[in-house]
Amino acid sequence: MLRETLSLLRINERREFSLYEQMKLRMNLDILVVGGGPSGAACATVLARGGARVAVVESGDFNRFRIGETIHATTRPLLARLGCPMPANDNCALPSLGVASAWGDSRVEVRPSIMNPYGRGWRVERRTFDKRLFENSGDAGAALFTKSRVEEVRRDAGKWTFSIVSDGKILPGTAPFVVEATGRNGKSKFAPNARRHWGDRLVGLAIFSKDYRPVTSRFADSALVESTPLGWWYSVLLPDQGTLGVFFTDGDLLPRNRAQVGLFLQGQIQETEHTRDHCPILENGPYRWKAFNARSGIRRLAVADGWVAIGDALMAFDPLSGLGVTEAISSGISAAEWWQSLQSPRIEGIPFWVEQVSERFNEYLKARLLTYSSEKRWPDSPFWRRRQRH
Ligand SMILES: Cc1cc2nc3c(=O)[nH]c(=O)nc-3n(C[C@H](O)[C@H](O)[C@H](O)COP(=O)(O)OP(=O)(O)OC[C@H]3O[C@@H](n4cnc5c(N)ncnc54)[C@H](O)[C@@H]3O)c2cc1C
Repeated sequence: MLRETLSLLRINERREFSLYEQMKLRMNLDILVVGGGPSGAACATVLARGGARVAVVESGDFNRFRIGETIHATTRPLLARLGCPMPANDNCALPSLGVASAWGDSRVEVRPSIMNPYGRGWRVERRTFDKRLFENSGDAGAALFTKSRVEEVRRDAGKWTFSIVSDGKILPGTAPFVVEATGRNGKSKFAPNARRHWGDRLVGLAIFSKDYRPVTSRFADSALVESTPLGWWYSVLLPDQGTLGVFFTDGDLLPRNRAQVGLFLQGQIQETEHTRDHCPILENGPYRWKAFNARSGIRRLAVADGWVAIGDALMAFDPLSGLGVTEAISSGISAAEWWQSLQSPRIEGIPFWVEQVSERFNEYLKARLLTYSSEKRWPDSPFWRRRQRH
């Protein structure tokens, strides 16, 4: 049993023993974090560094493609706070010199990062970036579980009891507090109310390839955004020599038949002037595509007794903002600092940072409306009509 339990704690040997000592085979935790993306990893890092007994349960293992590669420069101080700065020019991260956009006009305007007081952002390989943040929380002292799930959840006398199912083994545990960091689509058995207010029907169809790179591209160091009659394209050259193109449109504007989506995407690339040179993969097919929920949304319930939601599980932005990862890490850090400031495990009132969330979301909705309203070339297109100020 001891050996089995230790093998569940996938961290280095020295820490396995100290965690084992602390947890006494039963996971008697202070906090359980469900979801090991940027928000969950950030939260667990700050908590563990402050001495809390924390475990992170992640359903995946960072081997599958993960979306969201442009990291805003304002993430820099947050990564420093986590003790996990972005490595300079390795195979995970390349500098992003700005965003080029043909939006409202077919001419490209470049917003160079030189104008940003935080300097350059990055183009990252998200699997590696997320894994690094996740492992950083393990180095801080959190127990990490990948390819795992939580079952048999109950709340009794101010404590959660649960079982972590990992590698076919079952590890029982308790924690007075759970942080839900399950992302835009995630659900957990802890959430008292999983419902959200969704603000649109945006979906991102991503195409990724290592086979096609532009021979030259004047946007090689930036992300390129280009609007078209039915939505907009985002394209970027990635650090691992891959090229990624994502077409954003509303779910109800897609062909009903899945088999026709490839052809639909090829038609959409023909509508562009710049993206098809920057991202030749799109014209060259055949390719595989993957759909991502890209809707803006906010949770109806952000905090309850012994439970709080963070990151995309709390509030999800349109990828056009390029701020998803930054906001996710920031909310993970805020939740951890708030938890550390609590005088007792009993939660009274709403944390200050959750109060700010609805204000932040309303501001974001206004900014989104202004941005989409500035595209006036296709007044009859359902995609753009839905996004205009009336
Ligand atoms: C198409 C698209 C493009 C984007 N582009 C960008 C971009 O360029 N820049 C940017 O900053 N942001 C971008 N974003 C947004 C960004 O990816 C997210 O905001 C960010 O990943 C949120 O981090 P998170 O930790 O809250 O959630 P996630 O990154 O979604 O992580 C949640 C984790 O929880 C795990 N999980 C889910 N349910 C469970 C469960 N029940 N038990 C255990 N684990 C669970 C998942 O496996 C996942 O690892 C984009 C989003 C989309 C959809």
